[in-house]
Amino acid sequence: MTKNSKSLTTNKKLHTKVGDRVIVVSGKDKGKQGNVKKVDLKEGKILVDGVNVVTKAQKANPMAGIQGGLNKIARPIDASKVMICCPSCEKATRVKKAVKDGKKVRICAKCGETIDV
Ligand SMILES: [Zn+2]
Repeated sequence: MTKNSKSLTTNKKLHTKVGDRVIVVSGKDKGKQGNVKKVDLKEGKILVDGVNVVTKAQKANPMAGIQGGLNKIARPIDASKVMICCPSCEKATRVKKAVKDGKKVRICAKCGETIDV
């Protein structure tokens, strides 16, 4: 066993960020839309509202005040499975990077509108 990887903490660059509206383009949730709730740069995964919802059995634990039953929770999905939904043309789009007034902005590849506000 070699342990030579100095835990590469180079964060992956993601095209999405918290608050973005995205459309799932592959997997079982294909076509679903939701807002990005959380971005995990290390894993390259994002948590999208209402996407990849799994039902988890929760054991009752009266000591901790936890009720048993089935909970529906959203699990993070790979960021490559989603595309940004452009707020202007409402289409799944790729984003282009640009600099506007000294600020980095993202631009819809389809309609050319700035996505960041
Ligand atoms: Zn657009």
